[in-house]
Amino acid sequence: MRNVVIVGSGCAGNTAAIYAARASLTPLVVAGHEPGGQLSLTTLVENFPGFPDGVNGPDLVENIKKQSQNFGAEYVLGSVVGADLSKRPFRLNVDGEWIETRALIIATGASARWLGLPSEQKLIGHGVSSCATCDGFFYRGKKIMVIGGGDSAMEEANFLTKFGSEVVLVHRRDQFRASRIMIDRVRANPKITLLTNTVVDEIFDVSKGVVTGVRLRDVLSGDTWEREVDGFFLAIGHVPNTAAFKGQIELDQDGYIVSKGGATTSVRGVFHAGDVQDRTYRQAITAAGAGCMAAIEAEHFLAAEEH
Ligand code: NAP
Repeated sequence: MRNVVIVGSGCAGNTAAIYAARASLTPLVVAGHEPGGQLSLTTLVENFPGFPDGVNGPDLVENIKKQSQNFGAEYVLGSVVGADLSKRPFRLNVDGEWIETRALIIATGASARWLGLPSEQKLIGHGVSSCATCDGFFYRGKKIMVIGGGDSAMEEANFLTKFGSEVVLVHRRDQFRASRIMIDRVRANPKITLLTNTVVDEIFDVSKGVVTGVRLRDVLSGDTWEREVDGFFLAIGHVPNTAAFKGQIELDQDGYIVSKGGATTSVRGVFHAGDVQDRTYRQAITAAGAGCMAAIEAEHFLAAEEH
């Protein structure tokens, strides 16, 4: 029986682990299917306080993990695939093995969203990617397309110009969700072409087992045309990783955990931290802060039970 199990090992989970470990709760962190979370898929993080020259994302999250381990946090590889939060101790199914805990912090973050085209799903890893940092290198001198109109799309389009012969950024509207500075960088980059009011209807060529092009559609005129593409990068947001907790705690219509104030959820003793609940800020620093809050609340919850 554990005092606290933290599900997720991104910025939120690892920070919660530091605080819970320093409170002598010997937390167990279930690292999840994307250990390190979204920071492990980024390069330079320029806005995490304390690093005037920026910090490498994977290094940052790994250092937070090491910091928690120095205080006694334990990590297990694997994912929570089921849970019983109807009574305490809470029970978690970690890849088939059940563990019990007095308190639970859910810091499972959010994963990349896909367009949902059958051709897209068949070509993942063969030209279709949701991670520019991971896969950009493979498209040196090739034609690259990025989908999305948020900060991620802008950041990835800029990053991918290091590799591609051209980068075409496709967005379904003519207004961008991204911040001004990110849009300005994209507009100033001569290697990037912007296609607005445009969507992708099909990705070619499933029969060849590799991306060779796409069929695009102008959403205003309805015109369609084809364009050669080698690397197809999705940057259209994320989906919260709450499938294992569905029906156990209150989630909103998109699957995000509904906060009941501070780090609390609809179940006493279960706390949330990071992007699994936060659809607004979604920053490394806010996730870290949320991890801190969740651990402090879990500690208070457990301490109150002992008195
Ligand atoms: P986002 O802000 O939610 O933007 C997602 C984009 O994808 C939107 O432009 C959206 O279009 C588009 N989209 C969604 N579903 C689509 C679909 N099915 N087909 C076509 N397009 C679709 O997500 P994000 O860019 O990943 O950013 C998430 C958060 O992280 C934001 O708060 C952002 O500021 C932050 N972030 C910050 C930085 C940075 O500061 N360095 C870098 C990356 C991310 P619509 O606009 O039409 O809805």
